[in-house]
Amino acid sequence: MSRSVLVLGAGMVGTCTAVHLAMRGHAVVLVDRRAPGRETSYGNAGIIQREAVAPYAFPRSIAKLAGVALKRGADVNYHLGALPHVAAGLARYWRNSGAGRYPTIAEAYARLIAHATDEHAPLVAAAGADDLVRREGYLHIFRDAASMDLAAAEAQALSNRHGLRTDLLDGAALAAAEPALRTRLAGAIHWRDPWSVSDPGELVARYAAHFQRLGGTLAEGDASTLRQTATGWAVRTVDGPLEAEHAVVALGPWADALLRPMGYRLPLFVKRGYHRHYRGGAAPRLPLYDVGRGLVIAPMQRGVRITTGAEFAKQDAPATPWQLGRAEAHARELLELPEPVEAQPWLGARPCTADMKPVIGPAPRHRGLWFNFGHAHQGFTLGPVSGRLLAELIGGEAPVVDPAPYSARRFLHGA
Ligand SMILES: Cc1cc2nc3c(=O)[nH]c(=O)nc-3n(C[C@H](O)[C@H](O)[C@H](O)COP(=O)(O)OP(=O)(O)OC[C@H]3O[C@@H](n4cnc5c(N)ncnc54)[C@H](O)[C@@H]3O)c2cc1C
Repeated sequence: MSRSVLVLGAGMVGTCTAVHLAMRGHAVVLVDRRAPGRETSYGNAGIIQREAVAPYAFPRSIAKLAGVALKRGADVNYHLGALPHVAAGLARYWRNSGAGRYPTIAEAYARLIAHATDEHAPLVAAAGADDLVRREGYLHIFRDAASMDLAAAEAQALSNRHGLRTDLLDGAALAAAEPALRTRLAGAIHWRDPWSVSDPGELVARYAAHFQRLGGTLAEGDASTLRQTATGWAVRTVDGPLEAEHAVVALGPWADALLRPMGYRLPLFVKRGYHRHYRGGAAPRLPLYDVGRGLVIAPMQRGVRITTGAEFAKQDAPATPWQLGRAEAHARELLELPEPVEAQPWLGARPCTADMKPVIGPAPRHRGLWFNFGHAHQGFTLGPVSGRLLAELIGGEAPVVDPAPYSARRFLHGA
């Protein structure tokens, strides 16, 4: 049966949800205050992380925690003043990262990640976006042999368990594979299954154009005007009010702002991240994740994009791009990086949950309201499978994966 649906948020997650609903013949309006793919889904490292079967756990080693507290590395930063606001969420994140809970969480996570490239593939083809996508994997690079050996053993275990493909490159092989590197490193793990995208925001824009070709409508509007009506949901757009039987919240890091006034207290928080492009030097062939320093260096259409790790801060606090400064210095040890393209770094926020899994499924207390957010470090990867899963749930079809682990109800039971 065809349904009418408002999808709020045109990032990777909302756009893919809208595409999957439209493919199934539902009447869909995709609402955003900006053009599709201009926020978090624009600013990421552009990797479709088929290898990311293990979600980012809260660090548990004392040495790592001390390093974070003292801000020794570039991978994590925090605003002291924000800690009281995120403390409750982080405490749950810590608990969920322990040996008792993490394995079950990771199993559920891996079941979604398993569909990452398979679900992007038909959308890339239908959207005519082949020119944006490289299907050659990416490299985890290591500056010292001990870290490389440790990571190689872990990568081997994950690969065996999840059927992933990796190659180990020693220093010479890495230098040959990536001639732009100007320093001899210990080596690299080449994860061969992931894909990389040269303009992440443009990929979302192409998916959105495909959605329109399927008969879907894009509308400019403010999700905070969402109201329940006698028959469903209504939202205000620049073209006037719109109504539908169903509404999907796909607002990424802004989901909490909409849902709190509706009475939902979900354990959500953000990990902010920065990027900047650099032009003029030799670019790496594939994206490089400098594991020891916590930055990604990705060849993109606008130049070499450097992205940073996590910053624990209030989402709308002023930018403090200290990590980007450090990341840039670390990247210059590896590559020639002439002038930055942008005057100021880009700042965005990964939408995180306390148990590392996204929230996909019905809203527990409102009929016809659906959630699709909280994809943290891998929303660009997981948009298509999450969109498919939610579209199947809304349409009453057999779901591509068991949806239970991603239901918001888990938080009612203390997840
Ligand atoms: C530095 C960095 C690097 C990353 N690298 C990767 C990577 O390599 N691979 C990967 O898979 N993931 C990566 N991520 C994570 C990924 O970018 C996010 O998980 C993903 O983009 C989230 O998508 P989304 O659609 O949920 O949110 P968004 O893309 O933020 O979309 C939310 C949309 O909601 C809209 N919106 C918000 N409020 C309103 C409102 N009131 N009214 C109307 N519209 C509204 C916004 O305009 C926006 O378009 C990275 C993130 C960061 C920050």
